[in-house]
Amino acid sequence: MDRESVLQRDRSQGTESRSQAAGVAVGQTMKIRVLGCSGGIGGSLRTTSFLVDDDVLIDAGTGVGDLTLEQLAKIDHIFVTHSHLDHVTSIPFLVDTVCWMRGSPIKVYGIKETLDILRAHLFNWKIWPDFTQIPDAEKPFMAYREIRVGEAVELRGRRFTAIPANHTVPAVGYAVDNGRNSLIFSGDTATNDALWKVVNSTPNLKYLIIETAFSNKERDIAAASKHLCPQILAEELEKMRVKPEVFIR
Ligand SMILES: [Zn+2]
Repeated sequence: MDRESVLQRDRSQGTESRSQAAGVAVGQTMKIRVLGCSGGIGGSLRTTSFLVDDDVLIDAGTGVGDLTLEQLAKIDHIFVTHSHLDHVTSIPFLVDTVCWMRGSPIKVYGIKETLDILRAHLFNWKIWPDFTQIPDAEKPFMAYREIRVGEAVELRGRRFTAIPANHTVPAVGYAVDNGRNSLIFSGDTATNDALWKVVNSTPNLKYLIIETAFSNKERDIAAASKHLCPQILAEELEKMRVKPEVFIR
C-alpha cells in the first residue's frame, strides 16, 4: 500500500482538504498515512502503524520513528489492536520523547486484556517506567482508556470503533468513520466471520486494510499463528458483500 493514502477527497471541490488541528468536522476529509505495514524491520520495512490526520495512531510499530519531533508531539491518541511487540514498540519511546512538550496525557486505547498486558509486561518499571504514574497519577504523561468490542470513541468528528479479530492473543481491529466514509483495519487476524459481519454492515465502507502475514507455502504456520496467507485471504474475501478498495498488508 502507498505510504500515504487519503481516505476521502472533497469531490465537490475537486480538491482534497486536509483536516486542521483546530477541529475536524463530520464528513470532512480525513488523512491516513501508513507509517508501517510489515512484520519486521530492515531497509524500508517498518512494523505496523497508521497515522490518522496528525493526532491519532492506530498501532505504534517502528514506523512511528519516521515522524519528526514536532509530529510526534501532536499525537494525542493511540488505538492498539493487540499487545504484540510489532504493534506497540514505539509507545514507550514516543511517550518518553514528547512528554515534556505536552500539557495532556497521551491516551492509549485498547480492550482490557490488551491494556492489562501492557501494564504487566511493558510499562512495569522493569522494561519501561509506568508513565501513568509519572510525574504523578493525577496528571500523568500517559493514560489508559479501556474500550470494548463494538464500542465507538468519537474524536473531533471521527468515530473509532473496535471490531472483532481472531489472533493468538486478545485482539481487535478498528473501523474509522468520518461521517461520510469508513475505513476498516482488520488488525492481525485469522479467518474471522465476525469481521465480515461488520464489513458487510458498513454501507459507507471505502477502504479495507487486511493482513496477509505468510505465503501460501506457509499456510500451516499462518493457521497456527492465527494469521492469513493469500489462499486463506481469498477464501475470506468471498464472504464480502460490499465493494471497498482492498489493501493487503
Ligand atoms: Zn500479532
